Amino acid sequence: MLHLLVLFFEQEVSKNYMQKMQRSTEEWILISISLLGALIILTFALLRLLRGDWLLAALDGFAVVAMFGIFIRVYFSGNTVLMSHVFVGLCQLVLVMTVMLKGADQLFWFYPAALVVFFLLRPWLALAIVSLSILVLSTLLWSQITMLHLFGFVLSALATMGFAFIFAWRTKEQQLRLLRLAIKDPLTGAGNRRALEEKLLEAVHHFQRVHLPMSLILLDLDNFKHFNDSYGHDEGDRILIAVTDIIQRRIRRSDHLYRFGGEEFVVITDNTGLREACLLAEELRSDIAGATISDCQVTISLGVAQYQDGETGYQWLGRADQAMYRAKGNGRNHLCISEFHDDQLALTDR
Ligand code: GH3
Ligand code: MG
Ligand code: MG
Repeated sequence: MLHLLVLFFEQEVSKNYMQKMQRSTEEWILISISLLGALIILTFALLRLLRGDWLLAALDGFAVVAMFGIFIRVYFSGNTVLMSHVFVGLCQLVLVMTVMLKGADQLFWFYPAALVVFFLLRPWLALAIVSLSILVLSTLLWSQITMLHLFGFVLSALATMGFAFIFAWRTKEQQLRLLRLAIKDPLTGAGNRRALEEKLLEAVHHFQRVHLPMSLILLDLDNFKHFNDSYGHDEGDRILIAVTDIIQRRIRRSDHLYRFGGEEFVVITDNTGLREACLLAEELRSDIAGATISDCQVTISLGVAQYQDGETGYQWLGRADQAMYRAKGNGRNHLCISEFHDDQLALTDR
């Protein structure tokens, strides 16, 4: 019970934190780049207008309006996946058209445009796009500039692309490793408590939009202290890993498994009503009771709760926790359901 209280306070803190820090890194990057790009190109557009270079001024004007449009779109909708691709396409189009209109003088735009691709897209996709850009620009300039000049451009462009690719690729790998460390339980590989807290917030948010049923199963190993005391902590760890494997094999790919406490686990099933969740919980109970793990017979007690409109993730988890404690009271190796009628909490045994 105490850890549920702690979770409640942590959840409140993390809710406030998330409200302040809701923008993802991708959003911040795209918002900053599109605004900065629009401002810089605007100064070029004005200079070209002053010099009477109408065609290029119009092209720059188009780029400014498009970049500003992307900025507004991302700022208000947070849609970064589509807008990143649109932004990259726009930069490459304007780069090629500028070089077509003004020749090799404008090649310096290649370098920021190449970096933008690596900032916004996956490293291998960025590599393909920038390689294509180098090929198109070299073909365009083939007959217009000296071989030495062309060679110089291609070499410096390849160097920029190579450095940017190595940086983007290593950064992406590190980012994934850190993310795994931040959200996975190191012993079992299930999601950790932080991941569970985020999932609860996100699930409640999602429910408010789509109103599809979703359920939560909280399960706790029975008399686990006894296993630790009898066979040692290492053997206890092996049991936890084996139980996690059994659960992972039974749940769907779309279900989410978290290690909530020492020997407590939570399964969150999206698009699943109470009946289906109970069937899954019963399968988990019998799978684990029927397995021989390190020559021991391990059993679990489970509480099942379907999410009810208006409750917080903490209340939802709390109902499953109470049902699980009822299952313990009923002799363990048991499952109990938490039902919710007219704002009244009702617990039903199975
Ligand atoms: P109940 O059936 O009422 O759940 O009894 P229990 O013994 O399982 O419950 P209790 O909460 O008393 O004990 C939980 C035990 O889980 C205590 C602790 O030794 C053990 N435990 C917690 N985390 C770990 C872990 O990471 N590894 C191992 N081996 N044991 C752990
Ligand atoms: Mg236990
Ligand atoms: Mg426990």
